[in-house]
Amino acid sequence: MERRREALRFASAMIHHVAKLTFWGVRGSTPTLERDTWRYGGNTPCLELIAPDGTRFVLDCGTGLRMLGNRWTKAHGGQGIDAHILVTHYHWDHIQGIPFFNPFFQAQNRFHFYSFQSKYLGPNSLRQVIEAQLAKPYFPVEISLMTAAREFHEITGGDKWEINGTQITARFLNHPQGCLGYRVETSGGSVVYATDNEPGVAEYDQNLRQLAQDADVLIYDSQYSPEQLASERKGWGHSSWLEGVKIAREAKVRNLVLFHHDPDSIDKTVDGFLSAARQEFPATWAATEGMSITMSERGINVEMRESRGGQRRRLRFTATVSGQSDDGKPFEEKATVRDLSLQGAYLCLNNRPKLQSEVRVVIEATGDPAASSILSLRGTVVHFDAGREKTQNGVGVVFIDDSDPARPHD
Ligand SMILES: [Zn+2]
Ligand SMILES: [Zn+2]
Repeated sequence: MERRREALRFASAMIHHVAKLTFWGVRGSTPTLERDTWRYGGNTPCLELIAPDGTRFVLDCGTGLRMLGNRWTKAHGGQGIDAHILVTHYHWDHIQGIPFFNPFFQAQNRFHFYSFQSKYLGPNSLRQVIEAQLAKPYFPVEISLMTAAREFHEITGGDKWEINGTQITARFLNHPQGCLGYRVETSGGSVVYATDNEPGVAEYDQNLRQLAQDADVLIYDSQYSPEQLASERKGWGHSSWLEGVKIAREAKVRNLVLFHHDPDSIDKTVDGFLSAARQEFPATWAATEGMSITMSERGINVEMRESRGGQRRRLRFTATVSGQSDDGKPFEEKATVRDLSLQGAYLCLNNRPKLQSEVRVVIEATGDPAASSILSLRGTVVHFDAGREKTQNGVGVVFIDDSDPARPHD
């Protein structure tokens, strides 16, 4: 049975070689709950990467880890989970999800941890960090109840190793008390996770470029605006979208993902960073909680989380939709609105708007000729389904606040 399952898994991997990367936490420094940070999300760094052979990787253990744990527990029932956890460094925002990850408290699971020896902690740094998080009086649950098998691997900058055919490389980045960047090369594609890095020190700048060379996806610390990075946030250990663009170009990266959003950056601020970065490097995305990227020999596909949770009204009326298509050209067309909520709408379009680009939806209510009114809504594209509606494309839009200037960075 097991052999047959193995064989089937091998056969399907031979056909597709699909790797899937999912963002469970994208916020830097500390979680955010403010309404105007919801669209990109408030959980701190945690990524899941499933290699084409099914090997599971977790990159960082920020507060996003809790949701990943719930997802895995639900999907696997009582079956054992085996996963490899790569931790970049020990700052709170990268470890704070550990006590809240359900699979650690289930004996049938096994986890392999990888991180470096901190000079402040000595040998077994990561094991100490975990034990300290569950120590009295900081946490109510005893460490003895963390029954999953845990293996700790101490690695350092320059190390390369292989896990079930996936190649991993680690290199130190420039960050207070140290931080590792990881390159994870699967048979479906390569991901470089380079968060918490400040540019400007030759050795580390070079490390990063070597790590990022020709990667399919570069996830990069874009916490500050280029202006902040040059002035009041200099020396804080972070970077900007502009640096990301420079590295992406120099290292010939295929896709750039802006990551580690500042807790004081509202959605509109991140929108601004994304659109500025796209002008320089069109294949840029802003990391969003729930976003996933699938990679295979057929290319890269980016998807946003299903966001149609609000109360919807099924409808069928026309609206004028304008925006920017996938190839960067502006468009305007009369479209059918299929459903609408206060949060967003589902539209049928001939055009192919770019994911995470802005659209304008104008609806004219002409029922009462004396009181004809126009509803003009600004939105961002979160879903695209080619040819979903007969000959047309299904397009999901989330409405965004229309009031102008973005809150200044505080
Ligand atoms: Zn951080
Ligand atoms: Zn940090």
